[in-house]
Amino acid sequence: MANMACGMVTVQGHKGDILEFTERFISSDEIDNKTTEFGLYFNRSFVYARRREIFNEVNGLCSEGISTFELFVFFAWSAESCIINVKNNDEHISLSDACKLDGVSVTIHTEECDIEEYITCDSDGNLNYECERIPEYECPHCGSVMAIPSYIRIEENECCECGKLGLVLLPNDDDESEAA
Ligand SMILES: [Zn+2]
Repeated sequence: MANMACGMVTVQGHKGDILEFTERFISSDEIDNKTTEFGLYFNRSFVYARRREIFNEVNGLCSEGISTFELFVFFAWSAESCIINVKNNDEHISLSDACKLDGVSVTIHTEECDIEEYITCDSDGNLNYECERIPEYECPHCGSVMAIPSYIRIEENECCECGKLGLVLLPNDDDESEAA
């Protein structure tokens, strides 16, 4: 599918609160019939799993204390357009409001073509949004150039061509034009 920003949503909170938060995404069996059965939901924000599968996974978390849960999500067309710039209506909720209502804190990394988004939101609804070009690296061994999202630990990342470590960050084009 074109123009989908995909990425990892990491939710921290009590098990029941995490479950409520996951119900705001559109599961694969809800694509054509998502309703407000579980409350307001995230616009155009999809997960591959079925509702029952997500429920079972969350249900497997420890009932005591704070847990962490990860969900792979597709946003059409960016997380910003789906869950941050949300107009109030009868169906959709913003990330900030959801975090407050559900009492969870969330980290989201997405990528789409050469753009990456990095979002954090705490349980008070304090949101931080960053959107940047994905950094490019050059392999000092074979000269290959590759774009690698910044959340990946580059020290452990091998060159996609020769498999060696030691990729070197290339200067950002935007920085060069500013310097010139
Ligand atoms: Zn290489």
